[in-house]
Amino acid sequence: TCAASVAAQPLENADALIDSVETFIFDCDGVIWKGDSLIEGVPETLELLRSKGKRLVFVTNNSTKSRKQYGKKFETLGLNVNEEEIFASSFAAAAYLQSIDFPKDKKIYVIGEEGILIELELAGFSYLGGPEDGGKKIELKPGYLMEHDKDVGAVVVGFDRYFNYYKVQYGTLCVRENPGCLFLATNRDAVTHLTDAQEWAGGGSMVGALVGSTQREPLTVGKPSTFMMDYLANKFGITKSQICMVGDRLDTDILFGQNGGCKTLLVLSGVTSLSMLQNPNNSIQPDFYTNKISDFLSLKAA
Ligand code: PLP
Ligand code: CA
Repeated sequence: TCAASVAAQPLENADALIDSVETFIFDCDGVIWKGDSLIEGVPETLELLRSKGKRLVFVTNNSTKSRKQYGKKFETLGLNVNEEEIFASSFAAAAYLQSIDFPKDKKIYVIGEEGILIELELAGFSYLGGPEDGGKKIELKPGYLMEHDKDVGAVVVGFDRYFNYYKVQYGTLCVRENPGCLFLATNRDAVTHLTDAQEWAGGGSMVGALVGSTQREPLTVGKPSTFMMDYLANKFGITKSQICMVGDRLDTDILFGQNGGCKTLLVLSGVTSLSMLQNPNNSIQPDFYTNKISDFLSLKAA
């Protein structure tokens, strides 16, 4: 990185930040919930922002669920959030393919879980792979050759707990034997917090396997890439400087906001601690940081 960025400021006047934007984009895990538990004060904070007429949008890099499944999760947690306000990286993969008019007679090979399949199907695309290939093994016998469908025009890779060598080889064949084949990543998070007990290898690990074998770089549709930001700005007609991106992760959320020219707020309720933010090796500095989004309710100008 080049120019030293200005150090993040502790959020002191939440009202001034709220008044300065028309839209809040919230990352989900680490901001709204942690795993399956709601973070304290979230319902009241979202209601406050809605009462002030703010547009609320929720963006998650977790591709395992569809938009509709996330809608259920918000509901189960007692949050008043509409499906139309939710943008997961699974949805982003389908939206990207739609945005480029990916031909409906071509197929998509999926390395990932159910969320991606549901979104591709809703968008009218044909796919193969996904969880179904989880139990497949390659035959270890001389002369064995894996066949692949020559109609595959895109390989989409996301977080996949049923990842295996069969999928790597299938995806690799699609990309390497067809130079026109698209290579998309839902996200490249290095690690995730499936449980609080430890860090778990994230979607970036599955993507990395295909990068290694294909020697190609994928197009990422989730954070921090600009695709979803452009999509959102376009869909809702929002000016990006009128957005505040709120997230717990520097290299996805905060970079996503900065790449889009938005205001950025880091919350310390997720994976980033104050010492990580202030570590001299970290060059990603949000505009502001605070402990959790419910600080919006208490931080008033002096
Ligand atoms: N990918 C996976 C598989 C996850 O489990 C998570 C968080 O739970 C994420 C990505 C990051 O999600 P978010 O962007 O909502 O923080
Ligand atoms: Ca997060």
